[in-house]
Amino acid sequence: MICGRFFRLLASAALVAAPFALQAQSQPAHVHGQIKLDVVVDGPTVVVTMESPLDNFVGFERAPRNDDEKKMVDEAVAKLRAADTLFTIDPAGNCKLGPVDLRAPVLGLGATPAGAPAAGHADLDATFAFNCASAAATKFIDVGLFTAFKGPRQIEVQIAAPQGQFKRTLKRPNARIAWSK
Ligand SMILES: [Zn+2]
Repeated sequence: MICGRFFRLLASAALVAAPFALQAQSQPAHVHGQIKLDVVVDGPTVVVTMESPLDNFVGFERAPRNDDEKKMVDEAVAKLRAADTLFTIDPAGNCKLGPVDLRAPVLGLGATPAGAPAAGHADLDATFAFNCASAAATKFIDVGLFTAFKGPRQIEVQIAAPQGQFKRTLKRPNARIAWSK
């Protein structure tokens, strides 16, 4: 889909019309099929922060309009809340899933973000926290987003770990984010 390009065109058109649209320009890139993950290994925790178009999980970016769509949303939310099946962390870390925070204002999840919403588009962002006995020992995470959902095709990952900072790109069907010295 060329949705991201379309969105930028809309954003620049809005820029001419309304000064407050400047905020829209500073929004993170919204490209259907793409997900951004930030992985931070710090102290006893592994925290995964996700930014994604809502489209990746349910195929639309608005409130559900009928029972079928409500069911799709409920199933997607349930899968995301069961994050220890979506993110299998290196067993060396001995990690257990902690708090999961889902943010999708059009679905009534999480707080309404500051700034104007992007017309016609919506994100589902999330923070998944894991508590680990040996967080610093982790060297990979197997990501189940490609098997759990049809929408995502590519995942851009940034990792900050005791071993250093790394960037990785996962393309379907590759599922492992690995890092080491
Ligand atoms: Zn979109």
